[in-house]
Amino acid sequence: MRDTTKHQGLRNQLAATLEAKGIFDTNVLNAVKKIPRHLFIDSSFEEHAYQDKAFPIAADQTISHPYTVAFQSQVLEVQEGDKVLEIGTGSGYQTAVLLELKAEVYSIERQHELFKRTSNFLPKLGYRPKRFIFGDGYKGLPMQAPFDKIIVTAGAPFVPKALLAQIKVGGRLLIPVGDGEQVMTLFIRKSPKEFEKHELGDFRFVPMLKERN
Ligand code: SAH
Repeated sequence: MRDTTKHQGLRNQLAATLEAKGIFDTNVLNAVKKIPRHLFIDSSFEEHAYQDKAFPIAADQTISHPYTVAFQSQVLEVQEGDKVLEIGTGSGYQTAVLLELKAEVYSIERQHELFKRTSNFLPKLGYRPKRFIFGDGYKGLPMQAPFDKIIVTAGAPFVPKALLAQIKVGGRLLIPVGDGEQVMTLFIRKSPKEFEKHELGDFRFVPMLKERN
């Protein structure tokens, strides 16, 4: 598959749609304009790649809606050089957005097929996270902690304590919490012991896979 001026036009339109839906962070909108989303999904969906839709990827998972990716990216308030932990690499589209925002990204995926596929594919587009990890997101990444930001891109049945423990003071954890439907929940760490919690509306994600023992 190729990237053409037609795709570029569709991406500009998608960015305009996201702006109309309330995305105002120009760095996020510029990332949407730049990343060839049609290359992240099966070619049979290519025609629809720049609509605000989710699509199946491998292993019964989905690439999130562009709005959801843009919303999560905006709420994280990524600064250049931020150390960011992403849980649920999936297609790698959100990873690419974080890299366009100049974060240092650690991305965990629990399904081997997706881990393999995406860790091969993203560098081919020039997107190089600090690390791809095949592992269990419930545990976070204690060896690399603390993080400026942690983003979870699957529906979590509860807020894993390990993730709260791995954010820096002043840092953020953004996680969709709930079964079926999720409430997008933002935790800002105010001090070693205090977290400010914000609920930012309902979203629908594929469920986070169970903790592995
Ligand atoms: N950001 C991705 C979203 C993919 S869907 C994208 O836009 O493509 C959620 C992803 O989380 C899936 O790839 C799924 O396999 C992964 N996942 C689910 N449970 C997980 C867990 N416990 N640890 C790490 N990844 C997990």
